[in-house]
Amino acid sequence: MTRTLTNWAGNITYAAQELHRPSSLAALRALVADSSRVRVLGSGHSFNEIAEPGADGVLLSLTALPPAVDVDTTARTVRVSGGVRYAELARRVHEHGFALHNMASLPHISVAGSVATGTHGSGVTNGSLAAAVREVELITADGSSLTIGRGDERFAGAVTSLGALGVVTALTLDLEPDFEVSQHVFTELPLEGLDFEAVAASAYSVSLFTDWGRPGFRQVWVKRRTDRPVTGFPWAAPATGAMHPVPGMPARNCTEQLGVPGPWHERLPHFRAEFTPSSGAELQSEYLLARSDALDALHALDAIRGTIAPLLQICEVRTVAADRQWLSPAYGRDTVALHFTWVADTEAVLPVVRRVEEALEPFEPRPHWGKVFTVPPAVLRGRSPRLADFRALVGELDPAGTFTNAFVGDFLHPLS
Ligand SMILES: Cc1cc2nc3c(=O)[nH]c(=O)nc-3n(C[C@H](O)[C@H](O)[C@H](O)COP(=O)(O)OP(=O)(O)OC[C@H]3O[C@@H](n4cnc5c(N)ncnc54)[C@H](O)[C@@H]3O)c2cc1C
Repeated sequence: MTRTLTNWAGNITYAAQELHRPSSLAALRALVADSSRVRVLGSGHSFNEIAEPGADGVLLSLTALPPAVDVDTTARTVRVSGGVRYAELARRVHEHGFALHNMASLPHISVAGSVATGTHGSGVTNGSLAAAVREVELITADGSSLTIGRGDERFAGAVTSLGALGVVTALTLDLEPDFEVSQHVFTELPLEGLDFEAVAASAYSVSLFTDWGRPGFRQVWVKRRTDRPVTGFPWAAPATGAMHPVPGMPARNCTEQLGVPGPWHERLPHFRAEFTPSSGAELQSEYLLARSDALDALHALDAIRGTIAPLLQICEVRTVAADRQWLSPAYGRDTVALHFTWVADTEAVLPVVRRVEEALEPFEPRPHWGKVFTVPPAVLRGRSPRLADFRALVGELDPAGTFTNAFVGDFLHPLS
């Protein structure tokens, strides 16, 4: 029987006809060793063809393998298997009295798929979700196991790897002691006179939202750790009721606001695990550039807001601390991330995506690996200072290119 396989958003239909779901590691090894092209599908929340194996390739899911979330309270680490999502991981980590340093806007996404694309939350001192990873367990193209940990010179290529090195069967992450967060939303922050650095650094995690319908930001979400001194937010007025960042969507889909303290995993994401995140019918794009350019980049977008607004559901501005993962969009620079939730209409949205890319071009942005972008591979290569190291790593671990699909191949290899 043939099935149609799509991503979460439904804008990508995979050429692969079947989703293989091995139920044991032995079956997984055999499947990989017998296949010439393999890609893993995580929770399918990416908006482009990053997971596409091609018509002759094998698309596989790890969700039928026994899930593992093993907390080591002495080492303060958790080992999580390749198919597990953040919602389950966070719940178990919290039960043991620990926390992750940060979360994305939603807990619905798989851990392995998220760190593979450099997925991030917000906070000037918070690295992307990949920053918590200390060890990666892989099955490589011949079906054998390989563990790469911090201290191994290949580690900086092994976490945000676009799925190009092998099947990630488990990850070990750093934990920290459990903490609580209180979340406030503020409304109508002007762009004119904005002290971006002060706003972004005013709490553990800060997100600015705008519809670009008029200048400035409609909402600012301020997530404060209750175990840290509180900085005021003098730039905008507090909301008087709970809000959803996307106009018209119900606030009950969102994590608790109005300053009610709660566990880190029920405040750091914007969206609750039991509801549809964001709007549910959408495309997304995101561009990461140096935080020092944030204000100039925001003014560049403001100059084309008449083009952006008609196709936009919401734009979110976050910060990410610099990291050392070779392919991370936050590699080597403290980063501002400019995110766009578009309407679900690829044909209408792509010209506007291109216009946004032109406006941001002077800031040499790196696109989010899991979202819609049109930046040509040659330009991407020029913005990837450790590309040669990553290529060498792919050459070492996967010389036949079993895990290199068209998306990854176009980036890695210039057409001769
Ligand atoms: C509503 C919504 C909100 C979002 N919010 C955020 C946000 O706040 N911050 C942000 O940065 N991004 C965000 N994203 C983007 C999302 O986090 C990324 O696209 C992420 O990669 C999704 O994880 P996934 O498991 O669905 O990955 P998939 O899309 O399934 O896969 C992504 C890549 O990882 C590879 N992969 C997955 N699992 C494995 C494995 N076990 N071994 C090897 N390779 C693997 C795949 O082959 C593919 O290349 C959002 C997306 C949606 C739909």
